Amino acid sequence: MARTDADVLIAGGGFAGLTLAIALRQALGPSFAVTVADPALAANRSGDQRASAIVAAARRLFETLGVWQGVRDAAQPILDMVVTDSRLDDAVRPVFLTFAGEIEPGEPFAHMIENRLLVDALAAKAREVGVALRPTAVARWDGHGASAQSIDAACADGSAISTRLLVAADGARSSIRTAAGIATHGWNYGQSAIVTTVSHERDHEGRAEEHFLPAGPFAILPLKGRRSSIVWTEATAEAERIMALPDDAFHAELEQRFKLHLGEISIVGARRTHPLGFFVARSFIAERIALVGDAAHVIHPIAGQGLNMGLKDVAALAEVVVDAARLGLDPGSASVLERYQRWRRFDTMAMGFATDGLNRLFSNRSDVLRFARDVGLGLVDRVPNLKRLFIREAAGLVGEVPKLLRGELL
Ligand SMILES: Cc1cc2nc3c(=O)[nH]c(=O)nc-3n(C[C@H](O)[C@H](O)[C@H](O)COP(=O)(O)OP(=O)(O)OC[C@H]3O[C@@H](n4cnc5c(N)ncnc54)[C@H](O)[C@@H]3O)c2cc1C
Repeated sequence: MARTDADVLIAGGGFAGLTLAIALRQALGPSFAVTVADPALAANRSGDQRASAIVAAARRLFETLGVWQGVRDAAQPILDMVVTDSRLDDAVRPVFLTFAGEIEPGEPFAHMIENRLLVDALAAKAREVGVALRPTAVARWDGHGASAQSIDAACADGSAISTRLLVAADGARSSIRTAAGIATHGWNYGQSAIVTTVSHERDHEGRAEEHFLPAGPFAILPLKGRRSSIVWTEATAEAERIMALPDDAFHAELEQRFKLHLGEISIVGARRTHPLGFFVARSFIAERIALVGDAAHVIHPIAGQGLNMGLKDVAALAEVVVDAARLGLDPGSASVLERYQRWRRFDTMAMGFATDGLNRLFSNRSDVLRFARDVGLGLVDRVPNLKRLFIREAAGLVGEVPKLLRGELL
Protein backbone atom coordinates (compact mmCIF):
# COMPACT_ATOMS: atom_id res chain seq x y z
CA MET A 1 0.00 0.00 0.00
CA ALA A 2 0.92 3.67 -0.39
CA ARG A 3 3.61 5.37 1.64
CA THR A 4 3.03 9.04 2.57
CA ASP A 5 4.85 11.77 4.46
CA ALA A 6 3.43 13.84 7.31
CA ASP A 7 5.08 16.60 9.30
CA VAL A 8 3.13 15.31 12.31
CA LEU A 9 1.41 11.93 12.62
CA ILE A 10 -1.09 11.68 15.49
CA ALA A 11 -2.05 8.18 16.65
CA GLY A 12 -5.49 8.53 18.23
CA GLY A 13 -8.50 10.54 17.07
CA GLY A 14 -10.16 11.17 20.43
CA PHE A 15 -10.46 14.64 21.98
CA ALA A 16 -6.74 15.14 22.37
CA GLY A 17 -5.58 13.92 18.95
CA LEU A 18 -8.21 15.73 16.89
CA THR A 19 -7.82 19.00 18.79
CA LEU A 20 -4.06 19.00 18.28
CA ALA A 21 -4.46 18.28 14.56
CA ILE A 22 -6.86 21.21 14.08
CA ALA A 23 -4.65 23.60 16.07
CA LEU A 24 -1.56 22.73 14.00
CA ARG A 25 -3.29 23.01 10.62
CA GLN A 26 -5.00 26.27 11.48
CA ALA A 27 -1.76 27.88 12.60
CA LEU A 28 0.59 26.47 9.95
CA GLY A 29 -1.63 26.12 6.89
CA PRO A 30 -1.73 23.59 4.06
CA SER A 31 2.05 23.32 3.66
CA PHE A 32 2.23 21.59 7.07
CA ALA A 33 0.90 18.03 6.65
CA VAL A 34 -0.95 16.55 9.62
CA THR A 35 -2.37 13.01 9.67
CA VAL A 36 -4.58 11.46 12.35
CA ALA A 37 -4.84 7.65 12.36
CA ASP A 38 -7.47 5.89 14.49
CA PRO A 39 -9.70 2.88 13.68
CA ALA A 40 -12.48 4.59 15.70
CA LEU A 41 -12.72 7.30 13.00
CA ALA A 42 -14.78 4.79 11.02
CA ALA A 43 -16.90 3.73 14.00
CA ASN A 44 -20.30 4.89 15.18
CA ARG A 45 -19.85 6.61 18.55
CA SER A 46 -23.46 6.36 19.69
CA GLY A 47 -22.43 3.77 22.33
CA ASP A 48 -20.39 6.36 24.28
CA GLN A 49 -22.69 7.40 27.12
CA ARG A 50 -20.20 9.72 28.77
CA ALA A 51 -20.53 13.46 28.99
CA SER A 52 -17.74 15.76 30.08
CA ALA A 53 -17.43 18.97 32.00
CA ILE A 54 -15.61 21.35 29.65
CA VAL A 55 -14.06 24.05 31.82
CA ALA A 56 -13.86 27.68 30.72
CA ALA A 57 -10.26 27.48 29.49
CA ALA A 58 -11.06 24.43 27.33
CA ARG A 59 -14.17 26.15 25.98
CA ARG A 60 -12.03 29.16 25.00
CA LEU A 61 -9.72 26.78 23.11
CA PHE A 62 -12.64 25.17 21.24
CA GLU A 63 -14.05 28.60 20.43
CA THR A 64 -10.68 29.81 19.10
CA LEU A 65 -10.48 26.73 16.87
CA GLY A 66 -14.02 27.33 15.57
CA VAL A 67 -15.38 24.08 17.03
CA TRP A 68 -17.49 25.41 19.90
CA GLN A 69 -19.78 27.36 17.58
CA GLY A 70 -21.13 24.03 16.20
CA VAL A 71 -21.91 22.46 19.60
CA ARG A 72 -22.81 25.50 21.71
CA ASP A 73 -26.54 24.84 21.55
CA ALA A 74 -26.05 21.26 22.78
CA ALA A 75 -23.86 22.32 25.73
CA GLN A 76 -25.42 22.95 29.13
CA PRO A 77 -23.77 25.74 31.14
CA ILE A 78 -23.11 24.87 34.77
CA LEU A 79 -24.70 27.83 36.52
CA ASP A 80 -24.03 26.73 40.07
CA MET A 81 -22.67 23.81 42.00
CA VAL A 82 -23.35 22.33 45.43
CA VAL A 83 -21.12 19.96 47.37
CA THR A 84 -22.46 17.81 50.21
CA ASP A 85 -20.84 15.32 52.54
CA SER A 86 -23.03 12.71 54.23
CA ARG A 87 -23.66 9.02 54.88
CA LEU A 88 -25.79 7.11 52.39
CA ASP A 89 -28.82 6.82 54.70
CA ASP A 90 -28.69 10.37 56.17
CA ALA A 91 -32.12 11.98 55.72
CA VAL A 92 -30.62 15.45 55.19
CA ARG A 93 -27.47 16.24 53.23
CA PRO A 94 -25.88 19.38 54.67
CA VAL A 95 -24.44 21.64 51.96
CA PHE A 96 -20.82 22.61 52.66
CA LEU A 97 -19.81 24.42 49.54
CA THR A 98 -21.66 26.30 46.83
CA PHE A 99 -20.27 27.89 43.68
CA ALA A 100 -22.11 30.45 41.61
CA GLY A 101 -20.74 29.38 38.30
CA GLU A 102 -19.26 32.44 36.47
CA ILE A 103 -15.58 33.28 36.19
CA GLU A 104 -16.25 36.46 34.21
CA PRO A 105 -19.64 38.10 33.70
CA GLY A 106 -21.53 35.89 31.23
CA GLU A 107 -18.81 33.19 31.18
CA PRO A 108 -19.77 30.00 33.08
CA PHE A 109 -16.87 28.15 34.71
CA ALA A 110 -17.84 24.97 32.85
CA HIS A 111 -20.31 23.42 30.39
CA MET A 112 -21.52 19.82 30.19
CA ILE A 113 -21.56 18.18 26.79
CA GLU A 114 -21.97 14.62 25.57
CA ASN A 115 -18.64 13.20 24.40
CA ARG A 116 -19.85 11.87 21.05
CA LEU A 117 -21.22 15.30 20.00
CA LEU A 118 -17.92 17.00 20.71
CA VAL A 119 -15.77 14.31 19.05
CA ASP A 120 -18.00 14.37 15.94
CA ALA A 121 -17.66 18.18 15.77
CA LEU A 122 -13.87 17.90 16.13
CA ALA A 123 -13.68 15.30 13.34
CA ALA A 124 -15.77 17.51 11.03
CA LYS A 125 -13.56 20.55 11.72
CA ALA A 126 -10.38 18.48 11.21
CA ARG A 127 -11.67 17.37 7.82
CA GLU A 128 -12.58 20.98 6.92
CA VAL A 129 -9.07 22.32 7.68
CA GLY A 130 -7.39 19.58 5.64
CA VAL A 131 -6.19 17.10 8.26
CA ALA A 132 -5.73 13.64 6.65
CA LEU A 133 -7.99 11.29 8.63
CA ARG A 134 -7.08 7.61 8.37
CA PRO A 135 -9.44 5.01 9.90
CA THR A 136 -6.64 2.65 10.91
CA ALA A 137 -4.36 1.97 13.89
CA VAL A 138 -0.66 2.76 14.06
CA ALA A 139 0.60 -0.80 14.43
CA ARG A 140 4.42 -0.38 14.56
CA TRP A 141 7.04 2.26 14.06
CA ASP A 142 10.76 2.42 13.60
CA GLY A 143 12.72 5.42 14.91
CA HIS A 144 16.05 4.50 13.18
CA GLY A 145 18.11 5.74 16.18
CA ALA A 146 18.93 9.07 17.80
CA SER A 147 20.25 10.98 14.78
CA ALA A 148 17.45 9.99 12.38
CA GLN A 149 15.39 12.75 10.76
CA SER A 150 12.10 10.83 10.78
CA ILE A 151 10.07 7.91 12.14
CA ASP A 152 8.50 5.32 9.83
CA ALA A 153 5.10 4.16 11.04
CA ALA A 154 3.27 1.08 9.74
CA CYS A 155 -0.51 1.12 9.95
CA ALA A 156 -2.83 -1.84 10.46
CA ASP A 157 -4.28 -1.41 6.93
CA GLY A 158 -0.83 -1.98 5.43
CA SER A 159 -0.06 1.69 4.65
CA ALA A 160 3.13 3.41 5.80
CA ILE A 161 3.63 6.99 6.99
CA SER A 162 6.95 8.74 7.44
CA THR A 163 6.85 11.60 9.95
CA ARG A 164 9.06 14.06 11.81
CA LEU A 165 6.93 13.84 14.97
CA LEU A 166 4.74 10.95 16.15
CA VAL A 167 2.20 12.03 18.78
CA ALA A 168 0.74 9.34 21.04
CA ALA A 169 -2.87 10.42 21.66
CA ASP A 170 -3.91 6.77 21.85
CA GLY A 171 -5.49 6.77 25.29
CA ALA A 172 -4.75 5.23 28.68
CA ARG A 173 -3.51 1.90 27.29
CA SER A 174 -1.23 3.63 24.79
CA SER A 175 0.65 1.05 22.75
CA ILE A 176 2.97 3.79 21.45
CA ARG A 177 3.98 4.67 25.03
CA THR A 178 4.68 0.99 25.77
CA ALA A 179 6.64 0.45 22.55
CA ALA A 180 8.70 3.57 23.31
CA GLY A 181 9.68 1.95 26.62
CA ILE A 182 8.07 4.69 28.74
CA ALA A 183 6.93 3.31 32.11
CA THR A 184 4.16 4.82 34.19
CA HIS A 185 3.82 5.26 37.91
CA GLY A 186 0.53 5.20 39.72
CA TRP A 187 -2.03 2.88 41.18
CA ASN A 188 -5.55 1.51 40.85
CA TYR A 189 -8.12 2.80 43.32
CA GLY A 190 -10.09 -0.43 43.63
CA GLN A 191 -13.02 1.82 42.63
CA SER A 192 -15.13 1.97 39.49
CA ALA A 193 -17.33 4.73 38.11
CA ILE A 194 -20.83 3.74 37.06
CA VAL A 195 -21.96 6.11 34.33
CA THR A 196 -25.48 6.59 33.03
CA THR A 197 -27.95 9.29 31.99
CA VAL A 198 -31.26 10.06 33.70
CA SER A 199 -34.21 12.28 32.86
CA HIS A 200 -36.20 13.96 35.63
CA GLU A 201 -39.53 15.73 36.10
CA ARG A 202 -38.17 19.10 37.23
CA ASP A 203 -35.54 21.34 35.64
CA HIS A 204 -32.03 21.19 37.15
CA GLU A 205 -31.61 24.91 36.36
CA GLY A 206 -28.00 24.31 35.44
CA ARG A 207 -27.04 23.07 38.89
CA ALA A 208 -24.30 20.44 39.26
CA GLU A 209 -24.26 18.39 42.47
CA GLU A 210 -21.38 16.45 43.97
CA HIS A 211 -22.42 14.28 46.91
CA PHE A 212 -19.49 12.85 48.82
CA LEU A 213 -20.74 9.50 50.10
CA PRO A 214 -18.55 7.04 52.03
CA ALA A 215 -17.91 4.87 48.93
CA GLY A 216 -16.86 7.91 46.89
CA PRO A 217 -18.35 10.86 45.01
CA PHE A 218 -21.80 10.66 43.40
CA ALA A 219 -22.04 13.41 40.80
CA ILE A 220 -25.22 14.71 39.12
CA LEU A 221 -24.16 16.81 36.13
CA PRO A 222 -26.75 18.81 34.17
CA LEU A 223 -27.36 18.11 30.48
CA LYS A 224 -29.56 19.98 28.02
CA GLY A 225 -33.26 19.24 28.57
CA ARG A 226 -34.40 17.75 31.83
CA ARG A 227 -31.53 15.28 31.84
CA SER A 228 -28.43 14.70 33.95
CA SER A 229 -25.28 12.64 33.54
CA ILE A 230 -24.44 10.45 36.54
CA VAL A 231 -20.89 9.57 37.58
CA TRP A 232 -21.22 7.28 40.56
CA THR A 233 -18.12 5.92 42.30
CA GLU A 234 -18.22 2.62 44.21
CA ALA A 235 -15.68 0.04 45.36
CA THR A 236 -15.19 -2.22 42.33
CA ALA A 237 -16.92 -5.32 43.83
CA GLU A 238 -19.93 -3.23 44.85
CA ALA A 239 -20.04 -1.58 41.39
CA GLU A 240 -20.08 -5.05 39.81
CA ARG A 241 -22.95 -6.09 42.09
CA ILE A 242 -24.93 -2.96 41.23
CA MET A 243 -24.25 -3.32 37.49
CA ALA A 244 -25.59 -6.88 37.52
CA LEU A 245 -28.93 -5.84 39.11
CA PRO A 246 -32.16 -5.98 37.10
CA ASP A 247 -33.51 -2.57 35.96
CA ASP A 248 -35.93 -1.97 38.87
CA ALA A 249 -33.33 -2.82 41.55
CA PHE A 250 -30.71 -0.67 39.76
CA HIS A 251 -33.22 2.16 39.69
CA ALA A 252 -33.84 1.79 43.45
CA GLU A 253 -30.07 1.97 44.21
CA LEU A 254 -29.77 5.05 42.01
CA GLU A 255 -32.78 6.76 43.59
CA GLN A 256 -31.39 6.17 47.08
CA ARG A 257 -28.41 8.33 46.11
CA PHE A 258 -30.07 10.76 43.68
CA LYS A 259 -33.07 11.50 45.99
CA LEU A 260 -36.30 13.03 44.69
CA HIS A 261 -35.55 16.78 44.65
CA LEU A 262 -35.93 16.83 40.84
CA GLY A 263 -39.10 14.70 40.93
CA GLU A 264 -39.37 11.18 39.54
CA ILE A 265 -36.30 10.01 37.63
CA SER A 266 -36.05 7.63 34.65
CA ILE A 267 -32.88 6.01 33.40
CA VAL A 268 -32.55 6.99 29.73
CA GLY A 269 -29.02 5.84 28.93
CA ALA A 270 -27.19 2.53 29.02
CA ARG A 271 -25.14 1.85 32.19
CA ARG A 272 -21.40 1.42 31.85
CA THR A 273 -18.53 1.08 34.32
CA HIS A 274 -15.03 2.47 34.11
CA PRO A 275 -12.26 1.18 36.41
CA LEU A 276 -10.56 4.12 38.16
CA GLY A 277 -6.85 4.62 38.59
CA PHE A 278 -4.15 7.25 38.66
CA PHE A 279 -0.94 7.20 36.65
CA VAL A 280 1.52 9.58 35.10
CA ALA A 281 4.03 8.56 32.41
CA ARG A 282 7.64 8.76 33.63
CA SER A 283 8.43 10.85 30.58
CA PHE A 284 6.10 12.71 28.22
CA ILE A 285 8.61 12.45 25.38
CA ALA A 286 10.97 10.06 23.59
CA GLU A 287 12.96 10.48 20.37
CA ARG A 288 10.53 12.17 17.92
CA ILE A 289 7.61 11.12 20.12
CA ALA A 290 5.32 13.17 22.39
CA LEU A 291 2.56 11.83 24.65
CA VAL A 292 -0.66 13.82 25.16
CA GLY A 293 -3.95 13.25 26.99
CA ASP A 294 -4.73 9.93 28.64
CA ALA A 295 -1.64 8.39 27.03
CA ALA A 296 0.40 10.65 29.34
CA HIS A 297 -1.78 10.65 32.47
CA VAL A 298 -5.03 9.34 33.90
CA ILE A 299 -6.58 10.84 37.03
CA HIS A 300 -9.66 10.20 39.17
CA PRO A 301 -12.79 11.86 37.66
CA ILE A 302 -13.62 13.37 41.10
CA ALA A 303 -12.94 16.89 39.82
CA GLY A 304 -13.84 16.28 36.13
CA GLN A 305 -10.37 17.40 35.01
CA GLY A 306 -8.92 14.48 32.98
CA LEU A 307 -9.82 15.71 29.53
CA ASN A 308 -9.15 19.31 30.51
CA MET A 309 -5.59 18.33 31.48
CA GLY A 310 -5.22 16.56 28.14
CA LEU A 311 -6.30 19.72 26.35
CA LYS A 312 -3.65 21.65 28.26
CA ASP A 313 -1.05 19.19 26.88
CA VAL A 314 -2.45 19.73 23.40
CA ALA A 315 -2.40 23.54 23.67
CA ALA A 316 1.17 23.52 25.03
CA LEU A 317 2.47 21.05 22.40
CA ALA A 318 0.73 22.96 19.59
CA GLU A 319 2.34 26.20 20.80
CA VAL A 320 5.91 24.81 20.92
CA VAL A 321 5.56 23.02 17.56
CA VAL A 322 4.09 26.11 15.86
CA ASP A 323 6.84 28.35 17.29
CA ALA A 324 9.49 25.93 15.98
CA ALA A 325 7.92 25.43 12.54
CA ARG A 326 7.61 29.21 12.02
CA LEU A 327 11.33 29.54 12.66
CA GLY A 328 12.02 26.75 10.16
CA LEU A 329 13.07 24.37 12.95
CA ASP A 330 12.38 20.66 13.11
CA PRO A 331 9.09 20.11 15.07
CA GLY A 332 10.26 16.71 16.32
CA SER A 333 13.67 17.85 17.59
CA ALA A 334 14.74 17.16 21.17
CA SER A 335 14.78 20.86 22.13
CA VAL A 336 11.17 21.36 21.02
CA LEU A 337 9.97 18.25 22.84
CA GLU A 338 11.89 19.12 26.00
CA ARG A 339 10.20 22.51 26.10
CA TYR A 340 6.84 20.72 25.93
CA GLN A 341 7.79 18.30 28.70
CA ARG A 342 9.05 21.07 31.03
CA TRP A 343 5.80 22.94 30.54
CA ARG A 344 3.44 20.06 31.22
CA ARG A 345 4.93 17.40 33.47
CA PHE A 346 5.11 19.32 36.75
CA ASP A 347 1.62 20.77 36.33
CA THR A 348 0.28 17.26 35.62
CA MET A 349 1.90 15.82 38.75
CA ALA A 350 0.41 18.63 40.84
CA MET A 351 -3.13 18.11 39.50
CA GLY A 352 -2.76 14.32 39.70
CA PHE A 353 -1.76 14.38 43.36
CA ALA A 354 -4.45 16.96 44.18
CA THR A 355 -7.22 14.74 42.76
CA ASP A 356 -5.66 11.67 44.37
CA GLY A 357 -5.64 13.44 47.75
CA LEU A 358 -9.24 14.59 47.31
CA ASN A 359 -10.36 11.04 46.56
CA ARG A 360 -8.54 9.65 49.61
CA LEU A 361 -9.94 12.39 51.84
CA PHE A 362 -13.53 11.85 50.73
CA SER A 363 -13.83 8.13 49.88
CA ASN A 364 -13.77 6.78 53.41
CA ARG A 365 -15.93 6.21 56.47
CA SER A 366 -13.80 7.99 59.11
CA ASP A 367 -15.79 10.50 61.23
CA VAL A 368 -12.58 12.36 62.14
CA LEU A 369 -11.72 12.92 58.48
CA ARG A 370 -15.30 13.82 57.78
CA PHE A 371 -15.18 16.55 60.43
CA ALA A 372 -11.84 17.86 59.11
CA ARG A 373 -12.98 18.03 55.49
CA ASP A 374 -16.29 19.65 56.39
CA VAL A 375 -14.44 22.39 58.31
CA GLY A 376 -12.18 22.83 55.27
CA LEU A 377 -15.08 23.04 52.81
CA GLY A 378 -16.94 25.42 55.10
CA LEU A 379 -13.87 27.65 55.24
CA VAL A 380 -13.50 27.76 51.44
CA ASP A 381 -17.19 28.58 51.23
CA ARG A 382 -16.87 31.57 53.55
CA VAL A 383 -13.64 33.21 52.31
CA PRO A 384 -14.51 34.94 49.00
CA ASN A 385 -10.93 35.26 47.65
CA LEU A 386 -10.12 31.62 48.41
CA LYS A 387 -13.31 30.52 46.73
CA ARG A 388 -12.58 32.68 43.68
CA LEU A 389 -9.10 31.09 43.42
CA PHE A 390 -10.64 27.60 43.62
CA ILE A 391 -13.11 28.45 40.86
CA ARG A 392 -10.39 29.88 38.59
CA GLU A 393 -8.20 26.81 39.24
CA ALA A 394 -11.13 24.48 38.44
CA ALA A 395 -11.76 26.53 35.27
CA GLY A 396 -8.15 25.93 34.14
CA LEU A 397 -7.14 29.59 34.34
CA VAL A 398 -4.35 29.43 36.91
CA GLY A 399 -0.62 28.91 36.20
CA GLU A 400 1.25 29.17 32.90
CA VAL A 401 -1.80 28.85 30.66
CA PRO A 402 -1.04 28.17 26.95
CA LYS A 403 -2.34 30.74 24.43
CA LEU A 404 -5.18 28.62 23.01
CA LEU A 405 -6.62 28.11 26.49
CA ARG A 406 -6.56 31.88 26.98
CA GLY A 407 -8.59 32.20 23.78
CA GLU A 408 -5.66 33.54 21.70
CA LEU A 409 -4.75 32.35 18.22
CA LEU A 410 -1.36 30.71 17.70
C1 LIG B 1 -16.26 8.18 34.29
C2 LIG B 1 -15.39 9.24 33.72
C3 LIG B 1 -15.84 10.58 33.69
C4 LIG B 1 -15.00 11.58 33.19
N1 LIG B 1 -15.45 12.87 33.20
C5 LIG B 1 -14.64 13.87 32.78
C6 LIG B 1 -15.05 15.25 32.82
O1 LIG B 1 -16.17 15.57 33.25
N2 LIG B 1 -14.18 16.21 32.39
C7 LIG B 1 -12.92 15.88 31.95
O2 LIG B 1 -12.14 16.80 31.64
N3 LIG B 1 -12.51 14.59 31.85
C8 LIG B 1 -13.34 13.58 32.26
N4 LIG B 1 -12.92 12.28 32.17
C9 LIG B 1 -11.65 11.96 31.52
C10 LIG B 1 -11.77 11.99 29.98
O3 LIG B 1 -12.86 11.21 29.54
C11 LIG B 1 -10.48 11.48 29.32
O4 LIG B 1 -9.38 12.16 29.91
C12 LIG B 1 -10.48 11.74 27.81
O5 LIG B 1 -11.51 11.04 27.16
C13 LIG B 1 -9.14 11.32 27.19
O6 LIG B 1 -9.09 11.71 25.84
P1 LIG B 1 -7.89 11.20 24.90
O7 LIG B 1 -8.16 11.80 23.56
O8 LIG B 1 -6.59 11.43 25.55
O9 LIG B 1 -8.05 9.60 24.87
P2 LIG B 1 -9.25 8.69 24.34
O10 LIG B 1 -10.55 9.41 24.37
O11 LIG B 1 -9.13 7.40 25.10
O12 LIG B 1 -8.89 8.44 22.80
C14 LIG B 1 -7.85 7.58 22.40
C15 LIG B 1 -8.11 7.18 20.96
O13 LIG B 1 -6.96 6.47 20.50
C16 LIG B 1 -7.37 5.41 19.65
N5 LIG B 1 -6.26 4.44 19.57
C17 LIG B 1 -5.87 3.53 20.50
N6 LIG B 1 -4.79 2.85 20.08
C18 LIG B 1 -4.47 3.37 18.84
C19 LIG B 1 -3.44 3.10 17.89
N7 LIG B 1 -2.48 2.17 18.10
N8 LIG B 1 -3.42 3.81 16.73
C20 LIG B 1 -4.34 4.77 16.48
N9 LIG B 1 -5.35 5.07 17.37
C21 LIG B 1 -5.40 4.37 18.52
C22 LIG B 1 -8.67 4.92 20.27
O14 LIG B 1 -9.48 4.25 19.30
C23 LIG B 1 -9.30 6.22 20.78
O15 LIG B 1 -10.21 6.79 19.83
C24 LIG B 1 -13.72 11.25 32.69
C25 LIG B 1 -13.28 9.91 32.68
C26 LIG B 1 -14.11 8.92 33.21
C27 LIG B 1 -13.62 7.49 33.24
